[in-house]
Amino acid sequence: MTSLPMNRVEASSPRPSPPQSGGKPPHSIGVETSSPRSSPPQVCGGEGEEAQDGQHPPLLTGREAAGLNQRFAGRPTPDVLAWAWERFGSRAAIGTSFQGAGLVMMHLAKIAGLAFPVFTLDTGLLFPETLALKRRLEDFYGLKIEAIEPDLTVEEQADVHGAELWKREPDLCCTARKVLPLRGKLEELACWLTGLRRQQSQARAEVQIVELYQLDEETGRGIVKVNPMAHWSREEIWSHIQKHKIPYNPLHDQGYRSIGCMPCTRRITEGQDERAGRWIGFKKVECGIHTFLPKKVDFQI
Ligand code: SF4
Repeated sequence: MTSLPMNRVEASSPRPSPPQSGGKPPHSIGVETSSPRSSPPQVCGGEGEEAQDGQHPPLLTGREAAGLNQRFAGRPTPDVLAWAWERFGSRAAIGTSFQGAGLVMMHLAKIAGLAFPVFTLDTGLLFPETLALKRRLEDFYGLKIEAIEPDLTVEEQADVHGAELWKREPDLCCTARKVLPLRGKLEELACWLTGLRRQQSQARAEVQIVELYQLDEETGRGIVKVNPMAHWSREEIWSHIQKHKIPYNPLHDQGYRSIGCMPCTRRITEGQDERAGRWIGFKKVECGIHTFLPKKVDFQI
């Protein structure tokens, strides 16, 4: 029997059932949901409103964000999601690479009837298992997951920068294949919902539920980043996935934890950070999508 991702989780935690191989998974009949909420609310600020003096009006102030972080401390994740929907409607979108937290967040949104758009960054270097999971999740949740692609194919990138850029300059590779495509997507949005968790690594230990970032210094255009899963533990994530039979990446059953591009993802051993299997041989710990924007803490965006 295939070992499960929970072999790196406390023995008392229930193990998720392995995914069904071949054919339509039994859980593809869909997710029970609340009635979809009424039309998305009007969004204040951002591209939806005319800029004054070339500056975009605020989507949220630093003071509001601080108040929200206090309000959401210890509150259930659906409360955070409901706030994001009420505030931003479909200009809030879930960005996911199909790690466990992203899968759970999509599930919580679905059962609450919150129709957030969902997108993923398809670098052209994802595992076949990841691409198959995207299709399974589309069936399971009954939605289309937008694939955001880089300007250059992998072959075109090799022509410009040489073959296997990730072996020489992974920062440049991540910028081209992840960061810039994401930036383009964020230009369309007011709010970016992520599956970041504090437990994942030291670099993520200070993640807040609501964060403000500057997208464009010239226009003052900003983005509200919401991390509704910040306080979830790995055990809680996998317990939820098991309980609700949510499709997940079968590579988790083979020793992988954080799963990204094929060339930069390795299995890890017990006791390592969840993201220790990424960019082995480099000091790099983040691809850049969560670090490229300047954070705004105490002033309006
Ligand atoms: Fe390139 Fe690796 Fe970054 Fe993927 S994770 S974009 S292959 S450097």
